[in-house]
Order: sequence, then C-alpha cells, then structure tokens
Amino acid sequence: MTPYLEIGGDYREVVPGIHMLELPLPFSLGIVNVWLVRLESGWLLIDTGMHTEACFDALARALEGLSVEWRDIRRILLTHIHPDHIGLVPKLIPLTGSPLDLHWADNELLIQITEKDLHSDRETEILSAAGVSSGMRELVYASMVEIQQSFVRLTPDRLLSGGETVATAHGALEVIWTPGHSPGHVCLYDRERRLLISGDHILEHISPNIGWQPGRDALGEFLSSLDRIAALDVDLVLPSHGAPFKGHREWVRKTQEHHAERCARIVALVEDGASTAHQIAARLWNRHLSPFHYRFAIFEVLAHLEYLERREVLHADRSAEVHHWTR
Ligand SMILES: [Zn+2]
Ligand SMILES: [Zn+2]
Repeated sequence: MTPYLEIGGDYREVVPGIHMLELPLPFSLGIVNVWLVRLESGWLLIDTGMHTEACFDALARALEGLSVEWRDIRRILLTHIHPDHIGLVPKLIPLTGSPLDLHWADNELLIQITEKDLHSDRETEILSAAGVSSGMRELVYASMVEIQQSFVRLTPDRLLSGGETVATAHGALEVIWTPGHSPGHVCLYDRERRLLISGDHILEHISPNIGWQPGRDALGEFLSSLDRIAALDVDLVLPSHGAPFKGHREWVRKTQEHHAERCARIVALVEDGASTAHQIAARLWNRHLSPFHYRFAIFEVLAHLEYLERREVLHADRSAEVHHWTR
C-alpha cells in the first residue's frame, strides 16, 4: 500500500443539514466522503471510512469542529460493505451507542467473505475456472491479504431492503436499493431537495467496478439500478469519492454506453479465439496489471460474460475445470 497522501480531513456543509466529511484512504482513490446528516435530534452518519488511524482522526477532528459529540450520532447507515465504507464501524458503535443499518444482501455477502477458508476456496475455484495459472493465483491471493483483513463481520440492528425512509431535520431520505457494485448497495434520495447520496453506485470520473459473484448477473443488476436512478429527478449527486456533481442522466447514459462497448469488444475477442476470462482480460487491457488490479479485471470480464450468456449472445462450456466461451 502507498503512504497516505497529504489530503483528507476537510469537511463542509454541502446543503443545509448535510455535511460532507472527507476521510483519507491509503490507496489511489485518495478520499472517501462520509455524510453527517442532521436529524430532529442528533445526527445520522452515512458510511464510516476505513479502519485506519488517519480516517479515525479525520472523522474525530471534523466532529469536533462541528461540535458534534460521538453520542450525538444516533444512527449509522452503510451504503455498502467495502472496507473504505465500513472499516470504522466496530470502533464507532461503542463510542456512539448507535444502531447500525445495512442492506440484507450486503450483510449476507459479508458473512460469506468473512468465512475465510470457504471464501478462499471459492476464490480458487473462480480463478481456476477463469483460466488463471496457479502462479498468478498465488500473487493475487498475496495482493488481497490486506484488503481481506479489513472485511469484518458486523451485527446490523436493521436490515434494509430498499423503500425505507429516514426522517431527517430537512425532510425524508428514501433508501433505494441499487445492486451491481455490491449486491446490497443502497443510495439515499432526498426527493424534495432533489439530492442523491450515491455511494459508489455513481462516481463522476470513475466507472464503478461490478461486484460479480458466481450465478449472479451483477452487470444486469447494475444497469437496471442505473435506470432506476435515471428515472429520479436529481439536481446534485453526492458521491462517496470525488466532489458533488450535476448531470446524473448524462452520466448514466455514458456508463451504459461504456458497458455496451465493453460487451461488444468481448464478443469480438471471443469470435477471434479468446475463450477464457484470462485470455479475454489479457487482450482487453493489453498492459501490465498488478495482481490486485488483474483480479478486478478478471471479475469485470466475468460479469460481462455472465451478462452476455444470459442474453444468449455467448455460450459457456463449464464441463472442464477451465470454462470456455464461444459465440
Ligand atoms: Zn465500493
Ligand atoms: Zn468506495
């Protein structure tokens, strides 16, 4: 991991009653935004940052600057279970005494991921089937150890399923289930003020990676979730990484185009003889990827292959250990 960048720790009130707190991350995303939302009594914290001292210090300093005590936080809600969003939960629950809200599908995934032996067996199976060599698999595992340790089992007080509303001092926030980046990702929508707290579902300059798992049409889910968001009137998107921005429908259109192009590229590569996820990823990226990023590339390809198979564009042969794809 790279050393901390000298950024993070800033906070500001983006709209009345919603404060954006920038917390520093030890990797290239740089910063995760968490949101402190004023309730009739006390505050709601949306996401917590990573389990690092730097994150905790930045959060503590921001609260101090806003004269908010730990005990004033009355509720913690997680957009999804990635370590940059949930890391500080175990530390914050005893400090705040706050109940925890998380979508049931992400809670289930978290239980799976934290069953370490089972999880690593599943990873081996997926990577072998993708045609990844055993040498490369070892490098991938080694690159995942640190991130793997930052997934911790949580005990949510409320399991969300989408459709709930959270009353705040400035009106209601609606919980919108937006699976794709993770199976239980949620966004929060302020219908009256036309604001969307978008988590990692919509990030201005990044195409969020698709959280594929075997048997799951994660890309299909992601694209449907984008349709659901495009149907909403939104004047300002408040994302987990990067500054608030406008133009969510344009972003959705471009992102859908991006995935359509990637699907077309993959079909062309398959027609050209690339038949495993590894072969497709190698030709799609065509440059050196670190083992960590290579794993994401493989999963990204698998998400697209699954999507194309379900729409009967490609055919999968899973009869051997390594799976092969044809037109
Ligand atoms: Zn994420
Ligand atoms: Zn994130």
